[in-house]
Amino acid sequence: MTYTVDAAVVGSGPNGLAAAVTLARAGLRVEMHEAAGSVGGGLRCEAYFDGDIRHDVCSAVHPMAAASRFFREFDLAARGVELIGPDIGYAHPLDDGRAGLAFPGLDATCDGLGADGPRWRQLMEPLLEHSTGLVDFFMDGQRSLPGDPVAPLLLAARLLPRRLIRGFRGDVAPALLTGVAAHAVGKLPSLASDAVAMLLGQLAHGAGWPLPRGGSERIAHAMADDVRAHGGTLHTGSLITSLHELDHARAVLLDTGPDQLLRLAGDRLPARYARQLRRFRYGPGAAKADFLVSGPIPWTNPEVGRAGTVHLGGSHTAIARQEGLTVRGTPTGEPFVLLVDPAATDPGRAREGRRPVWAYAHVPNGDPRDPVDLVRSRVEKYAPGFSDTVLAARGVPAGDLETYNPNYRGGDIGAGAMTLYQSVARPVPRLDPWRTPLPGVFLCSASTPPGPGVHGMCGHLAALSALRHRFGIREAPSLGPEPAPPSASPTSAPGGPADPADREGPAGRG
Ligand SMILES: Cc1cc2nc3c(=O)[nH]c(=O)nc-3n(C[C@H](O)[C@H](O)[C@H](O)COP(=O)(O)OP(=O)(O)OC[C@H]3O[C@@H](n4cnc5c(N)ncnc54)[C@H](O)[C@@H]3O)c2cc1C
Repeated sequence: MTYTVDAAVVGSGPNGLAAAVTLARAGLRVEMHEAAGSVGGGLRCEAYFDGDIRHDVCSAVHPMAAASRFFREFDLAARGVELIGPDIGYAHPLDDGRAGLAFPGLDATCDGLGADGPRWRQLMEPLLEHSTGLVDFFMDGQRSLPGDPVAPLLLAARLLPRRLIRGFRGDVAPALLTGVAAHAVGKLPSLASDAVAMLLGQLAHGAGWPLPRGGSERIAHAMADDVRAHGGTLHTGSLITSLHELDHARAVLLDTGPDQLLRLAGDRLPARYARQLRRFRYGPGAAKADFLVSGPIPWTNPEVGRAGTVHLGGSHTAIARQEGLTVRGTPTGEPFVLLVDPAATDPGRAREGRRPVWAYAHVPNGDPRDPVDLVRSRVEKYAPGFSDTVLAARGVPAGDLETYNPNYRGGDIGAGAMTLYQSVARPVPRLDPWRTPLPGVFLCSASTPPGPGVHGMCGHLAALSALRHRFGIREAPSLGPEPAPPSASPTSAPGGPADPADREGPAGRG
């Protein structure tokens, strides 16, 4: 077989881009195929209502782009992408006007939590001291020995007694922590949601929950520029419908879900592996609502307006009930809502009398309801008069989200349920889950470990697996913003001996 490129990456979400960056920096000739008209996947922005106001279509807030190993090495700041930390990382208004506030430092947060301040500090402070170790433990997909062995021990000491919330006396701290746990989009409480609460919770007091100045697309543009600078090519409007279209590539990396792998591969996949892929479970959906408003949100508690992210769901008990119904597929009239007013952190996102508001509600998978009124009434409860500021609104039901991006099945923005089992065995239980039984074909999307979020690690780890097994390259390339090396493609001169298993056909494997 004569290959004309070393690697083809299908899909240009943060993971596809991270894979392409890693491969191109290893000296491979890389081409990317993106079905949509622009690169970025979950990092795109669009001007929905007004030419000069850009809305984040999917992701808006980026704790993991501030903290993951891929992005620490890639160094967004050195590439001109400024991650702006809000005054308050996240806020959680309660029905009576009080609010939990997670400040960048622990002191202000704990002061605000009164009698529960010491318990909050006891939970967060040790994790914060081992923050990088904790992030790497999660983000390496638990496939390597932890670089900081204390971090997983600290985590286990918090999770295993199963009393994260019960340790508090008041109602503000439990609500504040439950809002973070709800990012796992599943049953509450659970080990998986508690783990998410600890990972994201401590980050709010350390690396932060920042917003990229100008919008999430800035991250995608920096990554795409790096791919091009290292000789890669990007084709937008290029929907791949079969792996045969990529026979000219020595390796194929799919920034897609397992269902697409099944479709793209046709009958080439071993039956057992295909069966395992079909068992992959999707989680509840997200229904997105965007607003153009005339001014800052009139929160009852004005401190909430200083936050980057606002969690709307009320008390711990109320959120657990809403999330439980959602997991069971029962629509609720008062869903948990995440809201971002980007201009509160990045005033450049607003114009005189016009600013964007981003929100989504947790709803059952495939829920056909337009979320605009649901979200509007949730905001109105904590910010009476919000509706009067709305100039325009746009809703995308969970059931329609996969039309925009097939990876979000039924509106599952996690690209697969984040249960404890599926956070490790993602999409199938394998030591190297990025590598499929098809020689040279790898999965690199959020449907692989470490799962959802803009951290680039699924793509980076998949690319390292491809380098090792397909090209015999065992050393991870440097990702830092140094000038591109002269192009040297191993298409004609492989970098070293590849794993012999990848020279076998699919027959007899799996
Ligand atoms: C509404 C919403 C809000 C979110 N908020 C946040 C947030 O604030 N912070 C955060 O960290 N994360 C957030 N996320 C999650 C985050 O966006 C995703 O986890 C992340 O984008 C996953 O990256 P990915 O590269 O795996 O896939 P994606 O970003 O989904 O990209 C996949 C790309 O592949 C393309 N593609 C798929 N199939 C094909 C094909 N056959 N041929 C060619 N191209 C194809 C798609 O068009 C898409 O561009 C949010 C997601 C949504 C939807």
